[in-house]
Amino acid sequence: MEVEKIMSNLEKKHPGEVEYLQAVREVLESIEDVCNENPQFESAGIIDRLVEPDRILTFKVPWVDDNGKVNVNLGYRVQFNNAIGPYKGGLRFHPSVNLSILKFLGFEQIFKNSLTSLPMGGAKGGSDFDPKGKSNNEIMRFCQSFMLELWKIIGPETDVPAGDIGVGGREIGFLYGMYKKLTHEHTGVLTGKGINWGGSLIRPEATGFGAVYFANEMLKTKGLDFKGKVVAVSGFGNVAWGAVTKVNELGGKVVTISGPDGYVYDPDGISGEKIQYLLELRSSNQDIVKPYTYEFPNAQFIQGKRPWEVKCDIALPCATQNELGKEDAENLVKNGVICVAEGANMPSTPEAIEVLQEAKILFAPGKAVNAGGVATSGLEMSQNSMKLSWASAEVDQRLHQIMVNIHENCVKYGKQPDGYVNYVKGANVAGFMKVANAMLDLGVL
Ligand code: NDP
Repeated sequence: MEVEKIMSNLEKKHPGEVEYLQAVREVLESIEDVCNENPQFESAGIIDRLVEPDRILTFKVPWVDDNGKVNVNLGYRVQFNNAIGPYKGGLRFHPSVNLSILKFLGFEQIFKNSLTSLPMGGAKGGSDFDPKGKSNNEIMRFCQSFMLELWKIIGPETDVPAGDIGVGGREIGFLYGMYKKLTHEHTGVLTGKGINWGGSLIRPEATGFGAVYFANEMLKTKGLDFKGKVVAVSGFGNVAWGAVTKVNELGGKVVTISGPDGYVYDPDGISGEKIQYLLELRSSNQDIVKPYTYEFPNAQFIQGKRPWEVKCDIALPCATQNELGKEDAENLVKNGVICVAEGANMPSTPEAIEVLQEAKILFAPGKAVNAGGVATSGLEMSQNSMKLSWASAEVDQRLHQIMVNIHENCVKYGKQPDGYVNYVKGANVAGFMKVANAMLDLGVL
């Protein structure tokens, strides 16, 4: 396989799609050896077929705001690959959303979903709509309009979207309500549903919990755990909230959270009533990071900076893509970080990953670390199919086991001759092999 040739063709075909090209390059570089060892992949055109989505739906989303003004946003669904199961992946509502970002996320989702061992293909979707500052009714009207297009190509056995940045339980409710009205069906077509209408216990916290379970497995390889460790977290959305909660449960101390404008440093630790306070701010649709320092004056708000300059043992980037660059990685290494586990999707730049791997820091990519979210979505689909609902302890136990298995698989495929585990390679190879073999079995499609 010639990575540079494939990349230069893709760059010509998709100029400017920076995030998508970055994600594809990372995977191709990791799987180069196994592709060369398996010439049947080349003759079946596996890579050429894998790097292009099966289809992309783009649509306009007109909606009326509270002042009666008509607004128009763009909506997308990228159905990337369904070799091992129905398309599956979240919806993101954020002004930065564009096709490159959704293609990168959809591509990553293929391997992440494969790693979970559950039958789910890869997809992603969303809109450049900004939910921040919108009223409940505006959010509802937007979600209803979005679903008026999306419903045509999704279904419980076809494509099952979920939440992501800007899409939580409220948005899933409005989307599901409209789908139900249009199809006359109450089915598991979305995950992250409310508990009263088909949702699974533990799904809201699953991504963050799973990330910490995974990081704990990484620490165990060095005979360590979270007890007494200082942890820097970025973001304070769905993923960061679950991670902060679980780190506290395992005896670690979380000292940072962040937003787009800067980060909070709380040397006393972010736990208990402080987490509750943040959740209240979040549910009221307000800026949450700065007000924290008014309520808890020992904490400082550091404007325009990222948390990676703080001394910590473990770093969990849980906000967004490319939020941890080369200099940040150098700061973390200088300050003695032991483990960096990506709660978000592709939060570290390639240069940052190089710094961390060269320093032999435990480093694992989002597609492995945050796979607990989609794994629990898979468990929600199973419960929906069986018309049953499992107790939270059962879901949590399954989630935990899935994360332990993903970790084992990453070690199996990523262990280097010197004993250092390259989790990027491990996750990419383990995820890829299953999908590539399924594509071989299914013929040229
Ligand atoms: P949320 O919208 O719930 O939270 C995102 C958080 O990141 C918010 O606190 C937001 O702050 C902050 N943020 C957004 N942009 C920036 C930025 N440029 N710099 C710093 N902080 C920023 O999203 P999720 O928690 O759901 O998702 C976070 C990441 O995890 C994404 O990469 C997502 O793809 C990934 N992920 C999510 C899963 C899930 O189950 N939800 C599953 C797997 C991966 P503010 O609210 O102030 O804008």
